[in-house]
Amino acid sequence: MKNRGIYIHIPFCKKKCDYCDFTSYSYSDIDLNNYVDFLCREIELYSEELNNSNITSIYFGGGTPSVLNCEQINRIFNILNRYFKKGIEITFEVNPESINIEKLQFLRKLGVNRISMGLQSLNDKDLTFLGRIHNSNDALEIIKALYEMKFNYNIDFIYGFDKNRNIIDEIEKVLIFKPKHISLYPLEIYSSSKISSKIKAIDDEFAFKQYKEISKYLRECGFIHYEVSNFALKGYESVHNSNYWRCNEYFGFGVSSHGYLNDIRYENTKSLSTYKNMIENAKRPIINNISITLDDSKDEFIMLGLRLSEGISLSEYEKKFGSKFDRLNDKRVKRLLTDGFLLLEDGYLKITEEGSYQMNNILVDLL
Ligand code: SF4
Repeated sequence: MKNRGIYIHIPFCKKKCDYCDFTSYSYSDIDLNNYVDFLCREIELYSEELNNSNITSIYFGGGTPSVLNCEQINRIFNILNRYFKKGIEITFEVNPESINIEKLQFLRKLGVNRISMGLQSLNDKDLTFLGRIHNSNDALEIIKALYEMKFNYNIDFIYGFDKNRNIIDEIEKVLIFKPKHISLYPLEIYSSSKISSKIKAIDDEFAFKQYKEISKYLRECGFIHYEVSNFALKGYESVHNSNYWRCNEYFGFGVSSHGYLNDIRYENTKSLSTYKNMIENAKRPIINNISITLDDSKDEFIMLGLRLSEGISLSEYEKKFGSKFDRLNDKRVKRLLTDGFLLLEDGYLKITEEGSYQMNNILVDLL
């Protein structure tokens, strides 16, 4: 039996954030009910593969999964429960405006043992700038509840856009409530997003400086910088996301989900109506299948593995692909090592902090 994760996408949000480039729709209660019905039917279309998998983690992402009510979440678990054993990591993404203590208690009863909250900032001016609909006080109330309920939880922050912001002070206020995990994302500006009318470009130098400052602070507070954007207390690294970075397989359910099964990466439709039509006709709602060749696998192993602070094991590469990683002899790669963007240590190739901010350029030389 293969170890596999499950990702479930809930593509609805109360309001689109001004920077958002994800698939998310506004909704009515009928839309949510309807979507949950189709999602359950989609999961059933994979029953054979699910029965032949050892499910290692489940992740509800979005959109905003917490817009679902308890009855709707329960319906999804009624199906999922057939396919996994109790105790695996189950993460549920929430936003402050659509979560409350009752819903958190209900999630815990269903087996959810990890919450990931989109906070982004504790500064109300910045929250308005980002087009978020919660304020810092409401968010802190939920964080306090997560702490009192002894939840294992992650907080997402967005950085790199406000030179007057004291982001360390914000993180300090959150750390009082003992989160086990912090994720940091730079603001990205897409021409299609509303925020592009307020800010034209990110000052990369400032963003990298802020990233280094936060990383240093979190490390001093005992967090392990285990992936480019992720920090965790020891033992609280995300099992689900680590599986992506280690190139393991996973099911992707829901509109716009991606999955990886039997050496094929697949993509579900982004359209709600196409999603429903395909499932109504008992078809998996896939619009794109990509077979992963041996060369693709090698590239993915490097691209994803380098995101982890432990880097890529050169002996594991050789064992997996039957040949040595030969790019180390390339002139440009030697240069990256000499210039301190890459590091070769104890048989592992790693990206340094300086290198992590130039990941894409480095990968061009490595692949
Ligand atoms: S909550 Fe997330 S998915 Fe929803 S609009 Fe905001 S950024 Fe996009």
